Amino acid sequence: CFCQVTGHIDDCTCDVETIDAFNNQKLFPKLQKLLQSDYFRFYKVNLNKPCPFWTDQSHCGLRDCAVKPCEPDDVPEGIRADGLRHSEAPGTDLQECDEAEKLGAVDSSLSEDTRRAILEWSRHDDEEERFCVADDEESPDSQHVDLLLNPERFTGYKGPEAWKIWNSIYEENCFKPYTVKRPLNPMVSYTKKAFYRWLEGLCVEKRAFYRLVSGLHTSINVHLSARYLLADNWYEKKWGRNVSEFQQRFDANLTEGEGPKRLRNLYFLYLIELRALAKVLPFFEQPAFQLYTGQPEYDKDVKSALLEVLRLARSFPLHFDETSLFAGDKSEAAELKEDFKKTFRNISRIMDCVGCFKCRLWGKLQTQGLGTALKIMFSERQIEALPKSTGSKPGFQLTRQEIVALFNAFGRISTSVRELENFRSMLQEVP
Ligand code: FAD
Repeated sequence: CFCQVTGHIDDCTCDVETIDAFNNQKLFPKLQKLLQSDYFRFYKVNLNKPCPFWTDQSHCGLRDCAVKPCEPDDVPEGIRADGLRHSEAPGTDLQECDEAEKLGAVDSSLSEDTRRAILEWSRHDDEEERFCVADDEESPDSQHVDLLLNPERFTGYKGPEAWKIWNSIYEENCFKPYTVKRPLNPMVSYTKKAFYRWLEGLCVEKRAFYRLVSGLHTSINVHLSARYLLADNWYEKKWGRNVSEFQQRFDANLTEGEGPKRLRNLYFLYLIELRALAKVLPFFEQPAFQLYTGQPEYDKDVKSALLEVLRLARSFPLHFDETSLFAGDKSEAAELKEDFKKTFRNISRIMDCVGCFKCRLWGKLQTQGLGTALKIMFSERQIEALPKSTGSKPGFQLTRQEIVALFNAFGRISTSVRELENFRSMLQEVP
């Protein structure tokens, strides 16, 4: 069976059955509930940034690619005000400043609680550590989008335009040596042998990077197969699972054995993001940390639900062991980390070249989510050193945008893993 990706996942030791059972029965339902909360459903994004890499960028104009941004009144006050918190100098410590004066400098039409929260958050800025180029939240082009009203699903975006994006991600941004081409673009014929020679030749970190990107690609294609446009006529529009679409993309026979490898990369990505969630728990456990929407009781409940998800993530019995990554010579490890950062930032900028707005929205969110997961993985010491008390300035920070992206991106991967089980059972029913 092509989707029975049993055994060990390359470069880590955890079998997929363990992940399936943990995700599908335990984590997935709790995470889905969390993502429906006000804090997590609104994501601020600039979908109008010009593509920085080529000028012949066109917008596909497909109906299902449209994104409906929120009206200001749809968004809770605390979230609406969130962008303002970066108006403060990065790293400003409230304890050292004249708080009243600073509060006065924040938009006075907002309630005092909201302004206080903005100031508290203004300390949270660490551009340097980011793996993604984040959108400028204060740009007039940045808008809140309700993710629940704009779900990731089949849009019809495909062909040379979509391939150009995937191509530039793999060809130019996966540490690929220039001498060997990989079998990516169906219009160009590359040899499979050459690709695997290239992949095997990479050090474990760079191979891991390729697998993460490929896992993301898998997740997107699982989603479009799981929420495919099944009927489109004057009286109905119906979305649902399309088994033959899924088969064409992942069947071992139809993909020359590539499909199962791509599914394994999805599990690899799952493990990395799960590990990041487990590691970041102390940050969210800080008493001062608030999921601020301006509705105090509701916010408290959402924080409890969030901690429950993170503690569950921590309880996973077979976590990815990242100690094998960046374990070599100190300066080499630092250089690799910089390479990772640069390359990943580039990928996040390529998302501004995606011609379909819906695909761009989810592509940007998922790269930012993965970038945040990588930032967490590389910040172990800073997270461990987080002060237990509220007074001093913490060395590790996450912005609201990063938090929303991190959890929603993981929500996508978790949904894809869940969908694989659905496809598996549908395929068993096929005579
Ligand atoms: P593609 O998926 O375009 O792949 C191109 C080539 O890459 C394939 O021929 C294959 O050789 C290789 N490949 C495929 N999968 C993998 C993998 N997992 N790992 C390594 N190599 C691989 N479409 C939607 O309907 N909804 C969406 O929300 C959506 N979001 C998108 C987001 C982004 C950022 C991009 C670039 C595209 C998105 N698309 C979306 C388009 C979708 O991903 C496909 O590009 C499209 O369906 C055409 O598929 P394809 O079969 O031609 O192969």
